[in-house]
Amino acid sequence: HAVPESVALEINNLSFAYPEQSQMALSGISLKVEAGQHVAILGRTGCGKSTLLQLLTRAWECQQGEIRLNGEALSQFDETALRSATSVVSQRVHLFSATLRDNLLLAAPHASDEDLSRVLTRVGLEKLLDDAGLNSWLGEGGRQLSGGELRRLAIARALLHDAPLFLLDEPTEGLDAETERQILDLLAEVIKEKTVLMVTHRLRGLANFDSIIVMDNGQIIEHGTHADL
Ligand code: ATP
Ligand code: MG
Repeated sequence: HAVPESVALEINNLSFAYPEQSQMALSGISLKVEAGQHVAILGRTGCGKSTLLQLLTRAWECQQGEIRLNGEALSQFDETALRSATSVVSQRVHLFSATLRDNLLLAAPHASDEDLSRVLTRVGLEKLLDDAGLNSWLGEGGRQLSGGELRRLAIARALLHDAPLFLLDEPTEGLDAETERQILDLLAEVIKEKTVLMVTHRLRGLANFDSIIVMDNGQIIEHGTHADL
């Protein structure tokens, strides 16, 4: 698989239960996302939003129904091909105890130090470069990052990876209003040309999405544009 230039998704009657769970986490999800479309996913805590995004990365195999990426079944993609097609900002950002450089390189192994510094500046993390630069040690035995810094780091990774499909799971959860605004402005610029699925609790800004889905109890209960809903 070559990295696709753009990504269209089709989800057909998808149902999923986590291993050892009798309750379905998702049931009967169908959704079409055209290349370049931006979709917001809303719904109460525990309704299955993160699960849906995780199935799109094949963190789990779905037991029923199918997902197609540019017409091809997701189950036919190998891990590398799928990873190169998707940039993910997950709800819980993982920091490795490693250098700042290595924390970024996992998203883009061939990026130069210059690329890394540029992206850190772009997400407003340039102060992480102050002391030991890209060699500064993060995580255990090193510098811990605040919630907002972690989110920015995750966005920096997504930017470096620069895939055609962006899966964003509450990228501004837990941030103060000013930081949230900065990150959303940055994201808006980055994702313009991408296909995007973004989980959000935020009602402001929904008009910027091409469509909005509302989930409840593992199902899509509403689907439309901002004007429809
Ligand atoms: P939130 O808004 O709180 O992030 P969510 O809509 O993202 O919620 P999910 O994380 O998708 O919700 O969870 C859907 C359901 O699946 C919940 O009932 C949750 O307890 C369950 N669940 C999530 N992850 C697992 C797991 N690894 N194993 C078993 N059950 C899980
Ligand atoms: Mg979630």
